[in-house]
Amino acid sequence: MTGNAARFQALQNIINRGPMPAKAPESLDSLWASDVFTLNKMKESLPKEIFKSVKKTIEASEQLDVSIADVVALAMKDWALSKGALYYAHVFYPLTNATAEKHDGFISVQSDGSVISEFSGKVLVQGEPDGSSFPNGGIRSTFEARGYTAWDVTSPAFIMTTDNGATLCIPTVFVSWTGEALDKKTPLLRANAAMNKAAQRVLSLLGHKDIAPVNSSCGAEQEYFLVDANFINSRPDLLLAGRTLFGASAAKGQQFDDHYFGAIPERVQVYMQDVEEQLYRLGIPAKTRHNEVAPGQFEIAPFFESANVATDHQQLLMTILKNTAKKHGLACLLHEKPFKGINGSGKHVNWSVGNATQGNLLDPGNTPHSNTQFLLFCGAVIRSVHKYGPLLRAAIATASNDHRLGANEAPPAIMSVYLGTQLDNVFEQISNGKITGSLNAGVMDLGINTLPVFNKDAGDRNRTSPFAFTGNRFEFRAVGSGQSVAGPLVTMNTMLADSLNWVADALESKLAQGADLDTAVLNTLKELIDQHGAVVFGGNGYSAEWHKMAVEERGLANLKTAADALPVLKEPYVEELFDKLGVLSPVELASRFEIYSEQYILAIEVEAKLVVSMAKTGIYPAVIKYLSNLSNTISSLKSNGIELGTERLSHINGLLAPMMEIVAKLSDAISQHDFATVEAHMQFCAKTIRPLMDEVRFYADALEGEVADELWPYPTYQEMLFIK
Ligand code: ADP
Ligand code: MG
Repeated sequence: MTGNAARFQALQNIINRGPMPAKAPESLDSLWASDVFTLNKMKESLPKEIFKSVKKTIEASEQLDVSIADVVALAMKDWALSKGALYYAHVFYPLTNATAEKHDGFISVQSDGSVISEFSGKVLVQGEPDGSSFPNGGIRSTFEARGYTAWDVTSPAFIMTTDNGATLCIPTVFVSWTGEALDKKTPLLRANAAMNKAAQRVLSLLGHKDIAPVNSSCGAEQEYFLVDANFINSRPDLLLAGRTLFGASAAKGQQFDDHYFGAIPERVQVYMQDVEEQLYRLGIPAKTRHNEVAPGQFEIAPFFESANVATDHQQLLMTILKNTAKKHGLACLLHEKPFKGINGSGKHVNWSVGNATQGNLLDPGNTPHSNTQFLLFCGAVIRSVHKYGPLLRAAIATASNDHRLGANEAPPAIMSVYLGTQLDNVFEQISNGKITGSLNAGVMDLGINTLPVFNKDAGDRNRTSPFAFTGNRFEFRAVGSGQSVAGPLVTMNTMLADSLNWVADALESKLAQGADLDTAVLNTLKELIDQHGAVVFGGNGYSAEWHKMAVEERGLANLKTAADALPVLKEPYVEELFDKLGVLSPVELASRFEIYSEQYILAIEVEAKLVVSMAKTGIYPAVIKYLSNLSNTISSLKSNGIELGTERLSHINGLLAPMMEIVAKLSDAISQHDFATVEAHMQFCAKTIRPLMDEVRFYADALEGEVADELWPYPTYQEMLFIK
């Protein structure tokens, strides 16, 4: 069924919908990590020596020793069988934002026809999915298309259940036979290692002797929309592109601010509780839930974890949000801009670095020593965002995220750092070399007599900054809601590694010239802020003045679209950064440019095709039907002596005719495939195809306001956003 009949059926289905069957609530104790093969479960089931060895491997982020893999595999299999699992899957994270898995049965058929369950160490440690259909950006030719997956011991195995069974899932890295990373996890582990190495250098120069491995942390706040699933089937755009390509705004939007932090509708809360229960079973620490700004928009934020585990958990969380929505007759939209005219969705990535011995290195702390240490790490972040701002922009560049960045709801595409008034002032004083004290004197002593005291509080929260210091971490707010957080985390950790190495080099050379540590630190910070302070900005990131000042006076890049941003991945300084730190080889980096560019082009092409087909097969027929009804009525009334006038006919036709003209232009544009470079093709998508799509929409949305509601073929914004 299509057209208005489908729309009315959808409404009918929603009216007839019964409540979800109630589930008895379970205690946190019985839920927590019950489906995870945790360290505790390993401890219970493994011989002492083997457990010790596994634990060491995890702490050092190394690969599991094959000699003990068999024992671990056996324990893991027994646990999985006890949970009812018949299959296991190596889960990996290809270069799309998705999760991929290859399932195999534990079953092994014996010569006498009987079956046993089998799971060897070799199979645990290494899998061989036929990954030839995953995008690889030219790394693999088809004849050697195989990649292999290897268990990432730092991320625990877990059980995924459906109504009909359970599967043991093993988080893995995905690499080619020649060792190239084909996934998002491998570079994340490498970036973490590079950051650890550089952080260790700085910490030992500061005089620390006992330094535990430094890891990065991530707490991601996920925004999403919920729409009744009945509407999706009659909206080809939502079904295939995840966002509405047409739709006039409802009379009511978010202008009353009545949704933000309002009472959660009961149907949604039942859904959220179902999601949270599954997350808890998987050891994912869901912590906050609330309504977001736009009608139908919500947020879930788990407590932060180590970046690698948080990334795996983020992927699981997105899967669970989507799958659970289906069970509840809802659709969870993770697209960055599902609806025009109201807020889109982002994923704030809260990020810090720290270890077991020195704690959170981005926390100002309570002692003079930890405060100088903090300033060096914070300074390293500032340098990173300044030096590699365009790369940071590229890390969040997708066709869908372009709709948010720069619109007045999300941070602009200009990468700047917000520090808060106090910290701003500290760096300003360091730069001026005239240190007179803090704005709020007496709050925190930096000990070194030349450095001021400052308040631990980060000051006002600036919502317009893409990269904000929030007291003990940075919050990268420009990340898209549908994105994997791996890319941004790889970028942040790699940039930071480079900057920490720069700090270590600077300190080393000053110390070698005989400077004392305090002077070396202060001079390093001064040099750093003099060279990179231009990226610090505390004002309104949405304002036109900032956009002008950022580019013209401060020399910051404003890469408005992904088509502008992705080519940054080809810049020599970016290639050098990733190569020198061992995070991505030039071949691996080039493959990422290829894949992300291709995804950008494909995404826009799919949308453009949908615009053409929906305009031609849905909107045009509805409008001419209305025109025909209207003109028949006009004629028949006229024969009865009532003059209705034909102005409405011409007005509506005046919208329909140009719409169809632009649809024809768009059709032509889509069929163009002759481009000298990928860059040129991306620019064509950004500068020609997208504006044509917007133009078609302009007329279509105007028509929606003219044509009889009963004829309109697609569920309206009012229905999708307000009926649940
Ligand atoms: P807000 O909406 O005010 O930005 P939330 O409380 O919703 O804040 O989310 C903050 C997120 O930051 C949570 O996921 C939290 O666990 C995370 N977080 C807190 N401390 C750190 C840290 N040191 N490193 C990374 N993430 C952190
Ligand atoms: Mg936030």
